[in-house]
Amino acid sequence: RAANDARSQGDVAPNDLEAWWLPFTANRAFKRNPRMIARAKDMHYYTPDGRAVLDGVAGLWCCNAGHNRASIVAAIQAQAAELDFSPAFQFGHAGGFTLASRLAAMAPGDLDHAFFCNSGSEAVDTALKIALAYWNVRGEGGRTRLIGRERGYHGVGFGGISVGGIVTNRKFFGTLLAGVDHLPHTYSREHQAFTMGEPDWGAHLADDLERIVTLHDASTIAAVIVEPMAGSTGVLPPPKGYLQRLRQICDRHGILLIFDEVICGFGRLGHAFAAERYGVVPDMITFAKAVNSGTVPMGGVLVSSRIYDAFMKGPERTIELFHGYTYSAHPLACAAALATLDVYRDEDLFGRAKRLEPVFAEALMSLRGLPNVLDIRTLGLVGAIDLASRPDAAGARAFEAMDRAFQDLGLMIRITGETIAVTPPLIISEDQIGELVDKLGRVIRAVA
Ligand code: PLP
Repeated sequence: RAANDARSQGDVAPNDLEAWWLPFTANRAFKRNPRMIARAKDMHYYTPDGRAVLDGVAGLWCCNAGHNRASIVAAIQAQAAELDFSPAFQFGHAGGFTLASRLAAMAPGDLDHAFFCNSGSEAVDTALKIALAYWNVRGEGGRTRLIGRERGYHGVGFGGISVGGIVTNRKFFGTLLAGVDHLPHTYSREHQAFTMGEPDWGAHLADDLERIVTLHDASTIAAVIVEPMAGSTGVLPPPKGYLQRLRQICDRHGILLIFDEVICGFGRLGHAFAAERYGVVPDMITFAKAVNSGTVPMGGVLVSSRIYDAFMKGPERTIELFHGYTYSAHPLACAAALATLDVYRDEDLFGRAKRLEPVFAEALMSLRGLPNVLDIRTLGLVGAIDLASRPDAAGARAFEAMDRAFQDLGLMIRITGETIAVTPPLIISEDQIGELVDKLGRVIRAVA
Protein backbone atom coordinates (compact mmCIF):
# COMPACT_ATOMS: atom_id res chain seq x y z
CA ARG A 1 0.00 0.00 0.00
CA ALA A 2 2.74 2.40 1.02
CA ALA A 3 4.71 1.45 -2.09
CA ASN A 4 1.67 2.11 -4.28
CA ASP A 5 1.13 5.49 -2.68
CA ALA A 6 4.77 6.33 -3.24
CA ARG A 7 4.54 5.24 -6.86
CA SER A 8 1.51 7.38 -7.52
CA GLN A 9 3.58 10.36 -6.38
CA GLY A 10 6.17 9.44 -9.02
CA ASP A 11 8.52 8.48 -6.23
CA VAL A 12 9.76 5.13 -7.51
CA ALA A 13 12.59 3.34 -5.81
CA PRO A 14 15.16 2.29 -8.41
CA ASN A 15 15.19 -1.26 -7.11
CA ASP A 16 11.43 -1.77 -7.01
CA LEU A 17 11.23 -4.75 -9.35
CA GLU A 18 7.49 -5.34 -9.29
CA ALA A 19 6.16 -3.20 -12.13
CA TRP A 20 8.29 -4.44 -15.01
CA TRP A 21 6.90 -7.72 -16.43
CA LEU A 22 10.02 -9.09 -18.05
CA PRO A 23 9.69 -10.87 -21.42
CA PHE A 24 10.61 -14.54 -21.83
CA THR A 25 11.66 -14.54 -18.17
CA ALA A 26 10.82 -16.49 -15.03
CA ASN A 27 9.67 -13.26 -13.34
CA ARG A 28 9.24 -14.56 -9.78
CA ALA A 29 12.62 -16.29 -9.75
CA PHE A 30 14.24 -13.19 -11.23
CA LYS A 31 12.68 -10.84 -8.72
CA ARG A 32 13.79 -13.04 -5.84
CA ASN A 33 17.35 -13.13 -7.17
CA PRO A 34 17.80 -10.42 -9.81
CA ARG A 35 20.52 -10.43 -12.41
CA MET A 36 21.00 -6.70 -12.86
CA ILE A 37 23.17 -5.01 -15.46
CA ALA A 38 24.32 -1.42 -15.17
CA ARG A 39 26.70 -0.76 -18.05
CA ALA A 40 28.76 -2.38 -20.80
CA LYS A 41 32.02 -1.96 -22.67
CA ASP A 42 33.48 -4.11 -25.46
CA MET A 43 33.33 -7.78 -24.31
CA HIS A 44 31.88 -7.11 -20.87
CA TYR A 45 28.80 -6.20 -18.95
CA TYR A 46 29.14 -4.68 -15.48
CA THR A 47 26.76 -5.19 -12.59
CA PRO A 48 25.60 -2.25 -10.44
CA ASP A 49 28.26 -3.19 -7.87
CA GLY A 50 30.94 -3.10 -10.56
CA ARG A 51 31.49 -6.83 -11.24
CA ALA A 52 32.65 -7.56 -14.80
CA VAL A 53 30.62 -10.19 -16.67
CA LEU A 54 32.04 -11.68 -19.87
CA ASP A 55 29.36 -11.40 -22.54
CA GLY A 56 29.06 -14.90 -23.97
CA VAL A 57 25.97 -14.09 -26.00
CA ALA A 58 26.48 -10.67 -27.63
CA GLY A 59 23.60 -9.40 -25.51
CA LEU A 60 20.92 -11.43 -27.27
CA TRP A 61 22.79 -12.39 -30.43
CA CYS A 62 22.94 -8.73 -31.41
CA CYS A 63 26.02 -6.85 -30.18
CA ASN A 64 28.37 -8.33 -32.79
CA ALA A 65 30.72 -5.33 -32.69
CA GLY A 66 30.96 -5.51 -28.90
CA HIS A 67 29.49 -2.96 -26.52
CA ASN A 68 29.52 0.81 -26.48
CA ARG A 69 31.91 1.19 -29.37
CA ALA A 70 33.02 4.83 -29.52
CA SER A 71 32.25 5.46 -33.19
CA ILE A 72 28.76 3.96 -32.95
CA VAL A 73 27.98 5.94 -29.78
CA ALA A 74 29.17 9.13 -31.47
CA ALA A 75 27.07 8.48 -34.58
CA ILE A 76 23.92 7.98 -32.50
CA GLN A 77 24.61 11.10 -30.46
CA ALA A 78 25.26 13.22 -33.54
CA GLN A 79 22.14 11.93 -35.27
CA ALA A 80 19.97 12.66 -32.23
CA ALA A 81 21.17 16.25 -32.32
CA GLU A 82 20.67 16.59 -36.10
CA LEU A 83 17.41 14.81 -36.99
CA ASP A 84 15.55 13.05 -34.19
CA PHE A 85 12.69 11.63 -36.22
CA SER A 86 11.58 11.74 -39.79
CA PRO A 87 8.43 10.09 -41.13
CA ALA A 88 8.98 7.38 -43.72
CA PHE A 89 5.43 7.49 -45.11
CA GLN A 90 5.70 9.73 -48.20
CA PHE A 91 8.97 11.31 -46.92
CA GLY A 92 12.54 10.13 -46.72
CA HIS A 93 15.95 10.93 -45.28
CA ALA A 94 19.48 10.26 -46.45
CA GLY A 95 20.31 7.73 -43.71
CA GLY A 96 17.60 5.34 -44.83
CA PHE A 97 18.61 5.44 -48.48
CA THR A 98 22.32 5.14 -47.75
CA LEU A 99 21.76 2.21 -45.41
CA ALA A 100 19.46 0.42 -47.88
CA SER A 101 22.12 0.78 -50.59
CA ARG A 102 24.87 -0.53 -48.35
CA LEU A 103 22.82 -3.52 -47.26
CA ALA A 104 21.84 -4.27 -50.86
CA ALA A 105 25.53 -4.18 -51.81
CA MET A 106 26.35 -6.65 -49.01
CA ALA A 107 23.52 -9.03 -49.87
CA PRO A 108 23.92 -11.78 -52.48
CA GLY A 109 22.20 -12.00 -55.85
CA ASP A 110 19.51 -9.50 -56.73
CA LEU A 111 18.47 -8.76 -53.13
CA ASP A 112 18.68 -5.11 -54.00
CA HIS A 113 15.92 -3.51 -51.94
CA ALA A 114 15.46 -3.04 -48.20
CA PHE A 115 12.22 -2.55 -46.29
CA PHE A 116 12.81 -1.32 -42.73
CA CYS A 117 11.03 -2.05 -39.45
CA ASN A 118 12.05 -2.26 -35.80
CA SER A 119 12.61 -5.87 -34.81
CA GLY A 120 13.07 -9.38 -36.04
CA SER A 121 9.42 -10.17 -35.37
CA GLU A 122 8.31 -7.27 -37.53
CA ALA A 123 10.80 -8.30 -40.20
CA VAL A 124 9.26 -11.76 -40.35
CA ASP A 125 5.70 -10.48 -40.51
CA THR A 126 6.77 -8.00 -43.18
CA ALA A 127 8.39 -10.73 -45.30
CA LEU A 128 5.34 -12.99 -45.01
CA LYS A 129 3.04 -10.10 -46.00
CA ILE A 130 5.27 -9.15 -48.94
CA ALA A 131 5.16 -12.79 -50.11
CA LEU A 132 1.37 -12.89 -49.97
CA ALA A 133 0.97 -9.49 -51.61
CA TYR A 134 3.50 -10.45 -54.30
CA TRP A 135 1.36 -13.33 -55.45
CA ASN A 136 -1.67 -11.05 -55.43
CA VAL A 137 -0.07 -8.44 -57.65
CA ARG A 138 1.22 -11.23 -59.88
CA GLY A 139 -2.37 -12.45 -60.36
CA GLU A 140 -1.80 -15.70 -58.43
CA GLY A 141 -3.76 -14.79 -55.30
CA GLY A 142 -4.45 -18.48 -54.65
CA ARG A 143 -0.91 -18.81 -53.34
CA THR A 144 -1.65 -18.12 -49.69
CA ARG A 145 -0.09 -21.03 -47.86
CA LEU A 146 3.04 -20.43 -45.77
CA ILE A 147 5.48 -23.18 -44.89
CA GLY A 148 7.68 -22.98 -41.79
CA ARG A 149 9.61 -25.64 -39.94
CA GLU A 150 9.32 -27.52 -36.66
CA ARG A 151 11.49 -25.94 -33.96
CA GLY A 152 11.75 -22.75 -36.04
CA TYR A 153 11.77 -19.38 -34.28
CA HIS A 154 10.55 -16.37 -36.20
CA GLY A 155 9.76 -13.95 -33.43
CA VAL A 156 6.52 -13.40 -31.60
CA GLY A 157 4.10 -11.74 -34.01
CA PHE A 158 1.11 -13.82 -35.07
CA GLY A 159 2.74 -14.51 -38.43
CA GLY A 160 6.01 -15.48 -36.81
CA ILE A 161 4.52 -17.85 -34.24
CA SER A 162 2.31 -19.40 -36.92
CA VAL A 163 5.23 -20.38 -39.16
CA GLY A 164 7.42 -20.95 -36.11
CA GLY A 165 7.61 -24.38 -34.60
CA ILE A 166 8.29 -23.99 -30.89
CA VAL A 167 5.29 -25.36 -29.06
CA THR A 168 5.43 -23.12 -25.98
CA ASN A 169 5.45 -20.04 -28.20
CA ARG A 170 2.27 -21.24 -29.95
CA LYS A 171 0.01 -23.22 -27.68
CA PHE A 172 -1.24 -20.35 -25.50
CA PHE A 173 -2.19 -18.05 -28.35
CA GLY A 174 -5.29 -19.31 -30.05
CA THR A 175 -5.74 -20.51 -33.58
CA LEU A 176 -2.87 -18.59 -35.22
CA LEU A 177 -2.77 -18.10 -39.00
CA ALA A 178 -4.72 -20.58 -41.07
CA GLY A 179 -3.06 -22.31 -44.00
CA VAL A 180 0.36 -22.96 -42.52
CA ASP A 181 2.32 -26.19 -42.77
CA HIS A 182 5.69 -27.20 -41.36
CA LEU A 183 8.77 -29.01 -42.59
CA PRO A 184 10.38 -31.44 -40.15
CA HIS A 185 13.25 -30.08 -38.07
CA THR A 186 16.72 -31.28 -38.95
CA TYR A 187 18.10 -32.53 -35.64
CA SER A 188 18.92 -36.12 -34.83
CA ARG A 189 21.21 -36.76 -31.89
CA GLU A 190 21.69 -40.30 -33.05
CA HIS A 191 23.12 -39.16 -36.39
CA GLN A 192 24.67 -35.82 -35.52
CA ALA A 193 25.94 -35.70 -31.92
CA PHE A 194 29.18 -33.74 -31.35
CA THR A 195 29.45 -32.46 -34.92
CA MET A 196 31.52 -29.36 -35.59
CA GLY A 197 29.86 -27.33 -38.33
CA GLU A 198 27.21 -28.68 -40.70
CA PRO A 199 26.26 -32.31 -40.03
CA ASP A 200 26.59 -34.85 -42.84
CA TRP A 201 23.21 -36.38 -42.06
CA GLY A 202 19.89 -34.72 -42.82
CA ALA A 203 19.84 -33.13 -46.31
CA HIS A 204 17.09 -35.56 -47.29
CA LEU A 205 14.74 -33.84 -44.83
CA ALA A 206 14.38 -30.99 -47.35
CA ASP A 207 12.59 -33.44 -49.61
CA ASP A 208 9.63 -33.28 -47.27
CA LEU A 209 8.77 -30.07 -49.08
CA GLU A 210 7.91 -32.22 -52.10
CA ARG A 211 5.44 -34.14 -49.93
CA ILE A 212 3.85 -30.87 -48.76
CA VAL A 213 3.62 -29.64 -52.35
CA THR A 214 1.98 -32.90 -53.39
CA LEU A 215 -0.48 -32.61 -50.52
CA HIS A 216 -1.54 -28.98 -51.06
CA ASP A 217 -0.48 -28.29 -54.67
CA ALA A 218 2.14 -25.66 -55.49
CA SER A 219 -0.53 -23.26 -56.74
CA THR A 220 -1.61 -22.75 -53.10
CA ILE A 221 1.84 -22.15 -51.61
CA ALA A 222 3.27 -18.64 -51.31
CA ALA A 223 6.54 -19.11 -49.47
CA VAL A 224 8.81 -21.24 -47.35
CA ILE A 225 10.56 -19.58 -44.42
CA VAL A 226 13.49 -21.10 -42.51
CA GLU A 227 16.36 -19.94 -40.38
CA PRO A 228 19.51 -21.08 -42.23
CA MET A 229 20.75 -22.13 -38.79
CA ALA A 230 17.94 -22.53 -36.29
CA GLY A 231 19.05 -20.50 -33.27
CA SER A 232 16.53 -19.97 -30.52
CA THR A 233 15.44 -23.60 -30.40
CA GLY A 234 18.93 -24.50 -29.28
CA VAL A 235 21.24 -24.08 -32.31
CA LEU A 236 20.69 -26.54 -35.16
CA PRO A 237 23.24 -26.11 -37.94
CA PRO A 238 21.81 -27.00 -41.35
CA PRO A 239 22.81 -30.42 -42.68
CA LYS A 240 25.23 -30.30 -45.62
CA GLY A 241 23.29 -29.68 -48.83
CA TYR A 242 19.95 -29.10 -47.06
CA LEU A 243 19.48 -25.42 -47.90
CA GLN A 244 20.59 -25.95 -51.49
CA ARG A 245 17.99 -28.68 -51.84
CA LEU A 246 15.24 -26.47 -50.39
CA ARG A 247 16.14 -23.81 -52.97
CA GLN A 248 15.92 -26.35 -55.81
CA ILE A 249 12.51 -27.58 -54.73
CA CYS A 250 11.19 -24.02 -54.31
CA ASP A 251 12.46 -23.20 -57.81
CA ARG A 252 10.85 -26.28 -59.27
CA HIS A 253 7.46 -25.16 -57.95
CA GLY A 254 7.79 -21.38 -58.17
CA ILE A 255 7.67 -21.01 -54.36
CA LEU A 256 9.39 -18.05 -52.69
CA LEU A 257 12.19 -18.89 -50.26
CA ILE A 258 12.72 -16.63 -47.24
CA PHE A 259 15.82 -16.92 -45.07
CA ASP A 260 15.26 -15.56 -41.58
CA GLU A 261 18.76 -14.26 -40.86
CA VAL A 262 17.88 -12.28 -37.74
CA ILE A 263 20.69 -14.05 -35.90
CA CYS A 264 22.72 -15.55 -38.77
CA GLY A 265 23.38 -12.20 -40.44
CA PHE A 266 26.24 -9.76 -39.95
CA GLY A 267 29.14 -12.09 -39.40
CA ARG A 268 27.76 -14.63 -36.94
CA LEU A 269 28.56 -17.42 -39.41
CA GLY A 270 31.67 -15.75 -40.84
CA HIS A 271 29.88 -14.01 -43.69
CA ALA A 272 27.64 -11.00 -44.14
CA PHE A 273 24.75 -13.45 -44.49
CA ALA A 274 24.37 -17.21 -44.17
CA ALA A 275 23.05 -17.15 -47.73
CA GLU A 276 26.61 -16.37 -48.81
CA ARG A 277 28.11 -19.16 -46.69
CA TYR A 278 25.83 -21.70 -48.35
CA GLY A 279 25.83 -20.24 -51.86
CA VAL A 280 22.04 -20.06 -51.82
CA VAL A 281 20.22 -16.90 -52.82
CA PRO A 282 16.77 -16.70 -51.21
CA ASP A 283 14.04 -14.37 -52.47
CA MET A 284 14.03 -12.44 -49.20
CA ILE A 285 16.29 -12.15 -46.17
CA THR A 286 15.00 -10.89 -42.84
CA PHE A 287 17.50 -9.13 -40.59
CA ALA A 288 17.57 -7.20 -37.28
CA LYS A 289 19.77 -7.33 -34.15
CA ALA A 290 23.39 -7.05 -35.35
CA VAL A 291 22.54 -4.66 -38.21
CA ASN A 292 23.48 -1.95 -35.72
CA SER A 293 25.07 -4.15 -33.09
CA GLY A 294 21.88 -4.04 -31.05
CA THR A 295 22.22 -0.35 -30.19
CA VAL A 296 18.87 0.95 -31.49
CA PRO A 297 15.86 -1.22 -32.37
CA MET A 298 15.89 -2.00 -36.09
CA GLY A 299 14.84 -4.81 -38.39
CA GLY A 300 14.21 -5.18 -42.07
CA VAL A 301 13.74 -7.33 -45.13
CA LEU A 302 16.04 -7.55 -48.11
CA VAL A 303 13.88 -8.17 -51.15
CA SER A 304 14.79 -9.34 -54.65
CA SER A 305 14.39 -7.03 -57.61
CA ARG A 306 11.97 -9.53 -59.12
CA ILE A 307 9.62 -9.03 -56.16
CA TYR A 308 10.14 -5.27 -55.84
CA ASP A 309 9.61 -4.69 -59.55
CA ALA A 310 6.36 -6.65 -59.52
CA PHE A 311 4.91 -4.01 -57.19
CA MET A 312 6.18 -0.99 -59.13
CA LYS A 313 3.31 -0.94 -61.60
CA GLY A 314 0.11 1.03 -62.06
CA PRO A 315 -0.50 4.75 -61.50
CA GLU A 316 2.56 6.41 -60.01
CA ARG A 317 0.72 8.11 -57.18
CA THR A 318 -0.69 4.82 -55.89
CA ILE A 319 0.83 3.32 -52.75
CA GLU A 320 2.31 0.01 -53.90
CA LEU A 321 2.41 -1.80 -50.53
CA PHE A 322 0.00 -1.01 -47.72
CA HIS A 323 2.43 -1.81 -44.96
CA GLY A 324 4.92 0.07 -42.79
CA TYR A 325 5.77 1.26 -39.31
CA THR A 326 6.00 4.72 -37.76
CA TYR A 327 9.60 3.95 -36.92
CA SER A 328 10.60 2.33 -40.24
CA ALA A 329 14.18 3.48 -40.89
CA HIS A 330 14.31 5.57 -37.72
CA PRO A 331 17.17 8.06 -38.16
CA LEU A 332 18.94 6.93 -34.98
CA ALA A 333 18.75 3.28 -36.00
CA CYS A 334 20.08 4.11 -39.48
CA ALA A 335 22.95 6.21 -38.14
CA ALA A 336 23.85 3.43 -35.71
CA ALA A 337 23.73 0.86 -38.51
CA LEU A 338 25.94 2.88 -40.85
CA ALA A 339 28.54 3.34 -38.09
CA THR A 340 28.29 -0.37 -37.20
CA LEU A 341 28.80 -1.50 -40.81
CA ASP A 342 31.93 0.70 -40.85
CA VAL A 343 33.24 -1.10 -37.75
CA TYR A 344 32.49 -4.51 -39.31
CA ARG A 345 34.35 -3.49 -42.48
CA ASP A 346 37.29 -1.64 -40.90
CA GLU A 347 37.97 -4.38 -38.35
CA ASP A 348 37.13 -7.22 -40.78
CA LEU A 349 34.91 -8.73 -38.10
CA PHE A 350 33.17 -11.18 -40.45
CA GLY A 351 36.59 -12.49 -41.55
CA ARG A 352 37.64 -12.60 -37.92
CA ALA A 353 34.61 -14.74 -37.06
CA LYS A 354 35.52 -17.08 -39.91
CA ARG A 355 39.12 -17.38 -38.75
CA LEU A 356 38.07 -17.98 -35.14
CA GLU A 357 35.46 -20.61 -36.06
CA PRO A 358 37.80 -23.64 -35.76
CA VAL A 359 39.39 -22.29 -32.56
CA PHE A 360 35.97 -21.73 -31.02
CA ALA A 361 34.70 -25.13 -32.14
CA GLU A 362 37.72 -27.04 -30.78
CA ALA A 363 37.52 -25.17 -27.48
CA LEU A 364 33.84 -25.97 -26.99
CA MET A 365 34.30 -29.61 -27.96
CA SER A 366 36.80 -29.91 -25.10
CA LEU A 367 33.74 -29.91 -22.81
CA ARG A 368 32.69 -33.28 -24.21
CA GLY A 369 32.78 -35.85 -21.45
CA LEU A 370 31.81 -33.45 -18.65
CA PRO A 371 28.87 -34.60 -16.52
CA ASN A 372 25.47 -34.53 -18.23
CA VAL A 373 26.77 -33.22 -21.57
CA LEU A 374 24.68 -35.00 -24.21
CA ASP A 375 25.71 -33.06 -27.32
CA ILE A 376 27.76 -30.06 -28.43
CA ARG A 377 27.11 -28.26 -31.71
CA THR A 378 29.12 -25.44 -33.27
CA LEU A 379 28.84 -23.21 -36.32
CA GLY A 380 30.57 -19.89 -36.97
CA LEU A 381 30.82 -18.15 -33.60
CA VAL A 382 27.87 -20.10 -32.25
CA GLY A 383 27.99 -22.99 -29.84
CA ALA A 384 25.40 -25.06 -28.01
CA ILE A 385 25.64 -27.63 -25.26
CA ASP A 386 22.74 -29.97 -24.43
CA LEU A 387 22.58 -31.04 -20.80
CA ALA A 388 20.67 -33.99 -19.40
CA SER A 389 17.59 -33.02 -17.38
CA ARG A 390 17.29 -33.72 -13.70
CA PRO A 391 14.53 -36.20 -12.92
CA ASP A 392 11.13 -34.46 -13.04
CA ALA A 393 12.70 -31.02 -13.46
CA ALA A 394 13.01 -30.23 -17.16
CA GLY A 395 15.10 -27.13 -17.72
CA ALA A 396 16.20 -26.78 -14.08
CA ARG A 397 19.83 -27.73 -14.66
CA ALA A 398 20.38 -25.23 -17.47
CA PHE A 399 18.52 -22.53 -15.54
CA GLU A 400 20.82 -23.03 -12.58
CA ALA A 401 23.83 -22.96 -14.92
CA MET A 402 22.72 -19.62 -16.38
CA ASP A 403 22.17 -18.15 -12.94
CA ARG A 404 25.40 -19.43 -11.43
CA ALA A 405 27.42 -18.38 -14.47
CA PHE A 406 26.21 -14.83 -14.01
CA GLN A 407 26.21 -14.60 -10.23
CA ASP A 408 29.28 -16.63 -9.35
CA LEU A 409 31.55 -16.76 -12.40
CA GLY A 410 30.99 -13.49 -14.24
CA LEU A 411 29.73 -15.03 -17.47
CA MET A 412 26.53 -14.38 -19.40
CA ILE A 413 25.13 -17.38 -21.28
CA ARG A 414 21.74 -18.07 -22.82
CA ILE A 415 19.54 -21.09 -22.25
CA THR A 416 16.66 -22.76 -24.08
CA GLY A 417 15.23 -25.73 -22.22
CA GLU A 418 18.34 -27.74 -21.28
CA THR A 419 20.51 -26.20 -23.99
CA ILE A 420 23.19 -23.62 -23.23
CA ALA A 421 23.97 -21.33 -26.17
CA VAL A 422 27.04 -19.14 -26.54
CA THR A 423 27.32 -16.53 -29.27
CA PRO A 424 29.95 -13.98 -28.24
CA PRO A 425 30.62 -10.62 -29.87
CA LEU A 426 32.85 -11.06 -32.93
CA ILE A 427 35.61 -9.05 -31.25
CA ILE A 428 36.28 -11.89 -28.77
CA SER A 429 39.98 -12.74 -28.42
CA GLU A 430 41.41 -16.26 -28.32
CA ASP A 431 42.21 -15.76 -24.63
CA GLN A 432 38.61 -14.78 -23.98
CA ILE A 433 37.42 -17.89 -25.84
CA GLY A 434 39.58 -19.83 -23.39
CA GLU A 435 38.08 -17.95 -20.45
CA LEU A 436 34.54 -18.52 -21.76
CA VAL A 437 35.05 -22.26 -22.15
CA ASP A 438 36.85 -22.57 -18.81
CA LYS A 439 33.92 -20.87 -17.06
CA LEU A 440 31.44 -23.04 -18.97
CA GLY A 441 33.28 -26.13 -17.79
CA ARG A 442 33.20 -24.91 -14.21
CA VAL A 443 29.51 -24.16 -14.31
CA ILE A 444 28.65 -27.50 -15.95
CA ARG A 445 30.53 -29.26 -13.13
CA ALA A 446 28.81 -27.06 -10.55
CA VAL A 447 25.32 -28.13 -11.69
CA ALA A 448 26.19 -31.83 -12.00
N1 PLP B 1 13.75 -14.44 -36.14
C1 PLP B 1 14.79 -15.08 -35.59
C2 PLP B 1 15.49 -16.14 -36.37
C3 PLP B 1 15.21 -14.76 -34.29
O1 PLP B 1 16.21 -15.44 -33.73
C4 PLP B 1 14.53 -13.74 -33.60
C5 PLP B 1 14.96 -13.37 -32.24
O2 PLP B 1 15.78 -13.98 -31.62
C6 PLP B 1 13.46 -13.11 -34.20
C7 PLP B 1 13.09 -13.48 -35.48
C8 PLP B 1 12.68 -12.06 -33.48
O3 PLP B 1 13.40 -10.92 -33.31
P1 PLP B 1 12.90 -9.81 -32.27
O4 PLP B 1 13.07 -10.38 -30.91
O5 PLP B 1 13.80 -8.64 -32.56
O6 PLP B 1 11.48 -9.50 -32.59
